[in-house]
Amino acid sequence: MDVRIKTPLPHGGKLVDRVVRDRERAKKMAKGAAVFDIKPTLYNGMPVRNVYREIMSICYGFFSPVEGSMTHAEVERVLKERRLLSNWIFPYPLVFDISREDYQKLGVTSGDRVLLRLKGQPFAILDVEEVYEIDPPELARRTFGTPEDNPEVVKKNFDEKHPGYVIYKSLNPIVLAGKYTIINEPKFRPPFDRFWFPPAKCREEFAKRGWTTVIAHQTRNVPHVGHEALLKNAAFTGDIAPCDGILVNCIIGAKRIGDYPDEAIVEAHEMVNKAGYVSPKRHMVTFTLWDMRYGNPLESLLHGIIRQNMGCTHHMFGRDHAAVGDYYDAYATQILWSKGIPSFGFPAPPNMVEYGLQIRPQNMAEFWYCPKCGETAYSANCEHAERQRFSGSFIRSLLAEGVFPPPVIMRPEVYKVVVKWWKHFNYPFNNKKYLIEREQRLEVDLEPLDI
Ligand SMILES: [Zn+2]
Repeated sequence: MDVRIKTPLPHGGKLVDRVVRDRERAKKMAKGAAVFDIKPTLYNGMPVRNVYREIMSICYGFFSPVEGSMTHAEVERVLKERRLLSNWIFPYPLVFDISREDYQKLGVTSGDRVLLRLKGQPFAILDVEEVYEIDPPELARRTFGTPEDNPEVVKKNFDEKHPGYVIYKSLNPIVLAGKYTIINEPKFRPPFDRFWFPPAKCREEFAKRGWTTVIAHQTRNVPHVGHEALLKNAAFTGDIAPCDGILVNCIIGAKRIGDYPDEAIVEAHEMVNKAGYVSPKRHMVTFTLWDMRYGNPLESLLHGIIRQNMGCTHHMFGRDHAAVGDYYDAYATQILWSKGIPSFGFPAPPNMVEYGLQIRPQNMAEFWYCPKCGETAYSANCEHAERQRFSGSFIRSLLAEGVFPPPVIMRPEVYKVVVKWWKHFNYPFNNKKYLIEREQRLEVDLEPLDI
């Protein structure tokens, strides 16, 4: 068997790049287009999604081969078979939705061009191919599955306690389908700017570092010592050990009350290598813009697509991957990647079906702190009953009380990063105020384009 692994091709064969960097050309493209200001998707007055993040991730190639807002036929195929019309697998419908009132005001139809503004500045173009109506609650139900339709992994019907369901349910009823093109590149504000590695740049960085085998780590959290153990074990065990590199890819976007601020998440992960717990030669921190849908096995597919496009050969998947509540089986992601989920269109794992992924799964054990062993342990090396689970909510409760967490749970350097952003925002965790203000501020600023 050939054990050498090459950098995988992008999903769909080539990276999508729909960013116009020539300002004169950009101005020409925007001329005469109908103008629309991007608004966040709201639920009970709270922002839950901003379509700008999807436009960014599509145009910079994170979601290759997707190039825009999906047509009706494409949405139907994604829902029925989790495949695009080009056959490549893809888990979620992605659409540009607007209200009936906005649609009437805009007055566009297929063949027309819309100039999308963000924070009042020209940002992107949407070339309308089709206009159609959706039934958002029905779309939300079909996006995540039901116990009847997907008995292998769905345990109960989705409802408004699930943030992904809420996003789809809160969409506007009219969809403008068509390709997006960014005509005015947004500039990331610190600290996000130094972690911005779109797929093409990320692949260049891997090449520069001499990395071929790279394992991806999904996160939406500040790392505790259990996460660090996961990184190290994933990189140094498994089918290609040791991996040349570990790519931490944080998902940045609309979050929930009680989550850590995104600024703290990216810097805390970077601190793991700055403070020497993992060699910076092996460890790299990046992010992807996406308002998480928390679709456990479906989210893991999207994660596979994103990180394959970034050039990773492997992906870690643990228990309750990208999950909220108990809608899915806690091991739904492992079921998908070890044998497939036929009702979602996968009679075999997604890396073993036609038009599937090339990235390979690495199923991860669960780690705990064992006071008897005096270290982080897992089932293969510790059978003590005293095990203490790394509970994110336990750590958060310590931080909320201002208690310095024990270094066997959270590294002091990482804790300092959390405190730094705590002082900056005046709170350690996202509250209503943060969530509303961060959606006004976003992660980017845009310059005028003088159209
Ligand atoms: Zn032990």
